[in-house]
Amino acid sequence: MAHKNNKTGGKEAIELDRRGLLFVLSSPSGAGKSTLARKLLYSDPQISLSVSVTTRPPRPGEVNGVDYHFVDVENFKQMARRGEFMEWAHVFGHRYGTPKAPVEAMLAAGKDVLFDIDWQGTQQLYQESGNDVVRVFILPPSIKELEARLRGRGTDSDVVIAERMARAKSEIGHWDGYDYVLINDDIESCFGKIQHILAAERLSRSRQKGLIGFARKLVNG
Ligand code: ADP
Ligand code: 5GP
Repeated sequence: MAHKNNKTGGKEAIELDRRGLLFVLSSPSGAGKSTLARKLLYSDPQISLSVSVTTRPPRPGEVNGVDYHFVDVENFKQMARRGEFMEWAHVFGHRYGTPKAPVEAMLAAGKDVLFDIDWQGTQQLYQESGNDVVRVFILPPSIKELEARLRGRGTDSDVVIAERMARAKSEIGHWDGYDYVLINDDIESCFGKIQHILAAERLSRSRQKGLIGFARKLVNG
């Protein structure tokens, strides 16, 4: 079907079929991408999260299968050998990877997919699926505020925080590998910008598969 009609406020809104997109959020640790990702998933039923596999131990409150799939190094290596990852990388001394099958299933079900991955994973994803990838990088308003947020989150030890701060500047250096760069000063304003980016990218001509049929019908009556 080239399009479907959705009722909005009593009026029929035409929604054309479109290609799902791969929406990537990256940032130095602590800048707020998980918070933004959560808000997006909560408010937008058209997008689902790609749950990564990691060898990092769970933080308090993290749930296996929801925040991450937590595995040991041997399991991770086996998955990599079997070609089960779309991408994977070493981050902060642990391995993190995106399992391929769930992403393919979400796209096939007509969903967009949200990725909370680092710049290395973003590069790999872009090499694989360039046209379908939208890359957003989140910057903190300052280095001081970044550290305050990591401390305020209360999930990491001083050693882990020091490690994350030490890497922050080199991660920030990758901002120019992204399509959009946002400063997460005020969370609501930053979130609003993310929603605008997503809305615009969904309307891009190349993603609207249903346009050809729709335009043909307009022309041919
Ligand atoms: P990341 O996923 O990038 O590591 P988080 O989303 O976990 O970062 O955010 C780190 C901490 O900063 C959390 O405690 C979160 O509530 C807080 N935070 C996120 N965005 C803002 C913001 N704009 N202003 C103040 N605090 C924020
Ligand atoms: P955290 O340990 O704070 O959850 O994540 C650390 C970093 O790893 C973050 O920058 C996060 O975006 C990144 N990350 C999480 N999952 C993946 C993944 O599947 N692949 C890659 N390349 N990075 C990931």
